[in-house]
Amino acid sequence: MLNIILFGPPGAGKGTQSAYLVERHGLVHLSTGDIFRSNIKDGTELGQLAQSYMNQGQLVPDGVTIRMLESEVDKHPEAKGFIFDGFPRTTAQAEALDELLNDRKAPVSCMLALEVAEEELKLRLLTRAKTSGRPDDADPAVIQKRIDVYNAETAPVASHYADQGKFTGVDGIGTIEEIAERLSAAIPND
Ligand code: AMP
Repeated sequence: MLNIILFGPPGAGKGTQSAYLVERHGLVHLSTGDIFRSNIKDGTELGQLAQSYMNQGQLVPDGVTIRMLESEVDKHPEAKGFIFDGFPRTTAQAEALDELLNDRKAPVSCMLALEVAEEELKLRLLTRAKTSGRPDDADPAVIQKRIDVYNAETAPVASHYADQGKFTGVDGIGTIEEIAERLSAAIPND
C-alpha cells in the first residue's frame, strides 16, 4: 500500500496536488478539512462542533479529529493506498495515524512537504477566498492565526517523520504540473 501524507502550511497547494496524485497513483484522498466542511454543510453535530474552531483558525480537538479519520479509513477496505491531506496536524494525531496504519499492516510510506514562503501563502489564500467561499480564507486575521497555529503545532510533525526517515521537502513554487512532477519523483517506489 502507498500511504502518503501531503504536508504543508495553509495555502501550500495540498488540495490541488492531491487531485493529481490521486489520479496518477489510484489513491483514496482523505482531506480532514473537506470532511469537516461537508459536515458543516449537512448540519451534523460534528459540523457544528468543528465550525467554531475553523472560523477562528484553530484546530478541531484531536479526539474528535482522530476518531473521524479512523472511521474514514475504515470506509475504504479495498484502497490501494491513501493520500492524507491536512492530517496529521499535531504530534498526537501523527502517533494515532501510525498506530492505526501499523495495525492494518500498511504503515505511512512517506511525508511530502510542500514548501512555500509565508508572504506567498497569504496572497494565495486571499486570492482563493474569491472563489472558495471559505470564511477562513477571507479574513487576514484568521489567515495569520492559521499560519501561527501551523508553525506552533503542526510544523513539529515533520520531525516525527524525519526521525523515521520518511520526510521529503518539495519546492511548492512553480506551475501545478512542475510541482506535481517533483512530488511524484519524491514518492518511494511502490
Ligand atoms: P484545511 O481545509 O486543511 O485548510 O482545514 C481547514 C480547517 O479545518 C483548519 O483550519 C482546522 O480548523 C480544521 N482542520 C482540518 N484538518 C484538521 C486536523 N487534522 N486537525 C484539527 N483541525 C483540522
